[in-house]
Amino acid sequence: MSRNQTGTIQRDLNQDDLIVITGAGGFIGGSLVRYFHDLGYTRIRAVDKKPLSNWYQRIPGVENLRLDLREREACDRAVENAVEVYNLAADMGGMGFIERYRVECMRSSLINTHMIEAAYQAGVNRYFFSSSACVYNTQLQQNPNVIALKESDAYPAMAERGYGWEKLFAEMLCQEYWAERGMKTFIARFHNVYGPNGTWDGGREKAPAAICRKVIQAKDSGANEIMIWGDGTQTRSFTYIEDCLLGIDMIVHCEDLIATPINLGSSELISVDELVSLAEEIAETKLTRKYDLNAPRGVAGRNSDNTFIKEVLGWEPGTPFKEGLTQTYHWIEEQYLARKAGLRVVEETY
Ligand code: NAD
Repeated sequence: MSRNQTGTIQRDLNQDDLIVITGAGGFIGGSLVRYFHDLGYTRIRAVDKKPLSNWYQRIPGVENLRLDLREREACDRAVENAVEVYNLAADMGGMGFIERYRVECMRSSLINTHMIEAAYQAGVNRYFFSSSACVYNTQLQQNPNVIALKESDAYPAMAERGYGWEKLFAEMLCQEYWAERGMKTFIARFHNVYGPNGTWDGGREKAPAAICRKVIQAKDSGANEIMIWGDGTQTRSFTYIEDCLLGIDMIVHCEDLIATPINLGSSELISVDELVSLAEEIAETKLTRKYDLNAPRGVAGRNSDNTFIKEVLGWEPGTPFKEGLTQTYHWIEEQYLARKAGLRVVEETY
């Protein structure tokens, strides 16, 4: 177990041990830097290939490095003296991105291959890899009335083309570095993480952020109309960022989870139409819905089976979707209004 009876996570980590987080200019990596900083860890190295001015969060006192982790030397530099490594760097985005740019997604195998070897050579204590629900067999996800996916459903493998197969390969690297070389690796399969400080425009954003932005735009412009990708029946479960961060921490500090892929996702199933209704409720508006049946829509339905995480950690992500979406909506609204007022906001494009 990673937590004692009082609910404290047992970490074999001193306050001044070096924690390295990659993908730190992005959504989850940036939030994880803030999370460990707020816990009082004094040596954190944040790494991303983006220019610093495009990072969503920059935390005072953190060492920020701009490195392209597809290069082996960059990975060596990134992990120098690290005690724990959290590798969240990946070329990725929502369905619009991962269906269109499979080669870019698969080239993240360079990051994962070099990062894990560099971490091993540097002798790190713990190595975390952010996998995805996209590793699951797509043939099990053809009905919106889903049966939740349990960890063993990744095999026999028929992952999401490009992005999903790359994640599956990187998971296996983690398993073999433990089996053959004894490095403690940890693998969480994230299910649609959302929240403030993530991509909300430009083509890489995911459904919750995209819908919030569209609702804000429709309300602001007075168009009162929204275009929805697919027929609105697709279902997903969405995981709030704070649950994701706590989950990562618990997983990495649980000896029972070494080299063992585990779902890190909410089990509250939401259809895209329900997501739009919730965003309308938060915005106090009602829009005319149009459906783009030719737009990328991903699998018909997907949910996280949380039997394993509840068994091993006695916990599962629990933030109600409406609560998390409200926070996300208000953050995106602030960004939208700031941009409209001519202020600089962080944005990403394809
Ligand atoms: P994000 O795009 O916001 O962050 C990823 C960051 O990695 C970006 O800032 C990007 O610049 C950086 N990066 C890309 N290539 C790099 C390189 N060569 N060198 C250094 N940095 C590089 O994405 P996110 O939502 O924060 O996702 C973080 C991790 O979690 C990724 O591995 C992603 O595949 C995984 N994941 C996310 C979700 C989700 O719902 N957000 C779901 C499943 C898995």
